[in-house]
Amino acid sequence: MNQKKKKVVVIGAGIGGLSSAAILSFAGFDVTIIEQNEKVGGKANVLEKDGYVFDMGPSLLTLPEWIDEVFTFCLKNPRDYYTYKRLSTVTRYFFPDKSHLDVKSDLNDTAEEFEKVGLAKNQFLDFMRKWDDIYSISSKTFLENNIGLNKAFLSGALKWVKKSSISDLSTSMSTYNNKHISNDRVEMILNRFATYTGSSPFETPAFMNQLGVVEMIKGAYFPYQGIYSIPLALKKLCLELGVKIKMNCKVENINYRKKKFTIETKNETVDANVLLSNVDFFTTQKLLGRKINVKYQNLSTSCLVFYWGIKQEFPSLELHNILFTKDYKNEFEEIRKKELISDPSIYINISSKMEKSHAPSGCENWFVMINLPADVKSMNADVIKKLRELVILKISNFLKTNIEPLISVEEMLTPIDVQKRTGSHNGSLYGENQNSFSAIVNRKKNRDKKLRKLYYVGGTVRPGGGIPLAAKSGLNTAKLIVKNES
Ligand SMILES: Cc1cc2nc3c(=O)[nH]c(=O)nc-3n(C[C@H](O)[C@H](O)[C@H](O)COP(=O)(O)OP(=O)(O)OC[C@H]3O[C@@H](n4cnc5c(N)ncnc54)[C@H](O)[C@@H]3O)c2cc1C
Repeated sequence: MNQKKKKVVVIGAGIGGLSSAAILSFAGFDVTIIEQNEKVGGKANVLEKDGYVFDMGPSLLTLPEWIDEVFTFCLKNPRDYYTYKRLSTVTRYFFPDKSHLDVKSDLNDTAEEFEKVGLAKNQFLDFMRKWDDIYSISSKTFLENNIGLNKAFLSGALKWVKKSSISDLSTSMSTYNNKHISNDRVEMILNRFATYTGSSPFETPAFMNQLGVVEMIKGAYFPYQGIYSIPLALKKLCLELGVKIKMNCKVENINYRKKKFTIETKNETVDANVLLSNVDFFTTQKLLGRKINVKYQNLSTSCLVFYWGIKQEFPSLELHNILFTKDYKNEFEEIRKKELISDPSIYINISSKMEKSHAPSGCENWFVMINLPADVKSMNADVIKKLRELVILKISNFLKTNIEPLISVEEMLTPIDVQKRTGSHNGSLYGENQNSFSAIVNRKKNRDKKLRKLYYVGGTVRPGGGIPLAAKSGLNTAKLIVKNES
């Protein structure tokens, strides 16, 4: 390590930015985070209104050990910063005939649940065991390393092929699941995991079935005090390690001259030897004054979220709930064609089921989300009004209760808000989608091809989106910077 500390500027205090910043500061760099908002967290943010608390973005926590890794790398005990419990019921899935199936944290319990709809227990367990094996091979290849056509990747690839066949791995998730599961309801549940990368199960390769392994085998968790406790924990770690955080400071321009970055914000100009962008990859290109090729962008989905304070409790709902559409294929077709969604699947998260302080007594805090295309141009008040009516009607039918008069508090997050609040290009949640094998392998790297002192971190680059992957991106990219820049 050089005696004179190298100055790293991190743009954005999302999960990835905070994770990298802490590790780099621990490793001896002089680290400053520049964040446009008044709160850290980026997509993982919080909204408080009239006695209700809403986690605004992520609601489902998986692989918390990857967040813990950031703390342990800095020789801290993560349990001194945030804590969580494993859920027994992960998600309650409602079907159009109003019946439901629960996915449990215990795979055997889930298999028993699926037996109720005619899927033999061993057929499901064998299916999951095979994907668990593939996951354990590919997680090392894809997630721990900076993948490329290197030795580790090729030996990993060979092992997958032995476990499955190339044609099986590259066929679409829905086709594969139909062939190997052949049970409408369970297929819908398994196919839904594609949405965790903002992709379509009718396009993304079966390879992505590994996402189901994460939730169904590794389990799902609830952090005490909600998801926002995670960015708060990372912020605390950063501050303890000496990271400087400039809030309410939007970067408007990035220049690189004479081996130095000049980062222009409205009020000041900051210099850096090394720049790490936690902002969406495409938005970063715009800040650099680079042209982005719209033709080659296959963006992941965006969302419409309603945050509703509901003046009643609904015991039939769990912490995580899905109300499925009648026609899942059509829903993804409409998203692909950027059409108005006619019958969306609806996700309802109610954190007050676990954390009573998130809603007044006798009430619930509903986070109600549907998937939309990443397309801010098609969003307007009329479209939002239509979608709101559709969502209210569908939930009311499912619950046999008109929920509209029960809404006492209301806020929302549209694709335009996602773009504005987090800098995400066109409101997409995870950068490019993973709708093909080449999109998975060619995901944007953590180091710029031309400006070698420019790095990228977070859910729009490698290894991928979601809280645990953004944290893993933070760890991987910080290690890369330590290796290259010390
Ligand atoms: C509605 C929703 C639901 C989700 N559900 C889940 C879930 O259940 N589970 C899960 O694991 N993940 C979920 N995710 C995804 C998860 O939130 C993200 O993948 C992860 O938080 C992204 O972290 P990041 O490091 O990429 O940073 P981001 O969250 O993208 O943060 C980027 C930061 O950069 C800042 N920034 C942008 N532009 C500028 C600028 N010009 N100047 C200064 N600062 C700037 C932003 O303000 C922001 O703070 C969800 C996301 C959303 C939006």
